[in-house]
Amino acid sequence: MTIKTLIGKKVDITQLKGVRYEDFRGHNKINEIVAKEFLKTKKKRIIKKCIICGSSRIKLKTVVMKVPFMQCTKCTHVFNKYDYDYNFLESFWKRKGNVINVHSHGNQQKYRPKHLSKPKVDYVLNGIKRKKNLKWVDMACGNGEFLSQVKKSGIKPYGFDLNEDDIKRAKKKGINAFRKDMTQFVNYALDKNIKFDFASGTGYLDMVNDPNYELRTLNKIMKKGSLLIIDLPDFNSICHDMIRYFPQQSSRHLNGTQRSSYTYKSLSYLFKKNGYKIIKRWIYGIDFYMIMNVLNLLNKEFYKSNAMKIMTKNYEKFQAIIDQEKAADTLFLVAKKI
Ligand SMILES: [Zn+2]
Repeated sequence: MTIKTLIGKKVDITQLKGVRYEDFRGHNKINEIVAKEFLKTKKKRIIKKCIICGSSRIKLKTVVMKVPFMQCTKCTHVFNKYDYDYNFLESFWKRKGNVINVHSHGNQQKYRPKHLSKPKVDYVLNGIKRKKNLKWVDMACGNGEFLSQVKKSGIKPYGFDLNEDDIKRAKKKGINAFRKDMTQFVNYALDKNIKFDFASGTGYLDMVNDPNYELRTLNKIMKKGSLLIIDLPDFNSICHDMIRYFPQQSSRHLNGTQRSSYTYKSLSYLFKKNGYKIIKRWIYGIDFYMIMNVLNLLNKEFYKSNAMKIMTKNYEKFQAIIDQEKAADTLFLVAKKI
């Protein structure tokens, strides 16, 4: 069976990210803070094998803000050279979860649910027979923004996250949200005999030490024929080229917290290994924003230029070219449990 592919997505970049110098610098600063924390901790060890396929054929691929990333020559997966102690990660997310929550300024809070989350939920549900009592779990659900769109579509929303403030906000939106990790949440669901029709993860499988363990554990509460929706940064994108060639100006991806950077090939490998078959792929991104980001960080005054004015005005057209080239930075896949 062929994989249905959708290319391109509408975005108002001024609403989504902001195009002032402070906006670019803000994202960049977060990467600096995170890199520092992760580099200084001693609670880590060097990874010897690919965390997706287990191959020991790995080599250094790129270094961003002194954080080294390795690539597997077999499945092409890219991953942080170090594996971090669970307690370090848990305490990091507890303390810094709020610092690196970059989606919090006023405009974005209004913009994101309608323009980011709703189209994704609609895309997943398009063409699906709607049964009663459907249940959806979102891994690392944050403040429940995505799940509130799931709820609006009539599906019962569940989520888990380690950040306490986010869980409180999600609960206020009427979401069954828990301050738990995957193992704790799955144990809870098994105990209550809850099985799921949908599971989603936006930037989740790139933050965990062992993605295979996560999916194996999740599988215990997923129904046969259920859908897994994964939304991750794509290593093979123009955005990642910009980060690799201009690491000091980097933002968003390949930062210290990121354990993995997926390619289409490595994510496909992970799905197959855990019993999932890809049925849909959506290609879109904000790569052009990363090009603007580098230019603005290289010269603080650049935001005032005519070049910047034209780039902002025609943002969607520039990004559309990158989407068409299939060089966009979002890997959005829908896979079915077989
Ligand atoms: Zn591999």
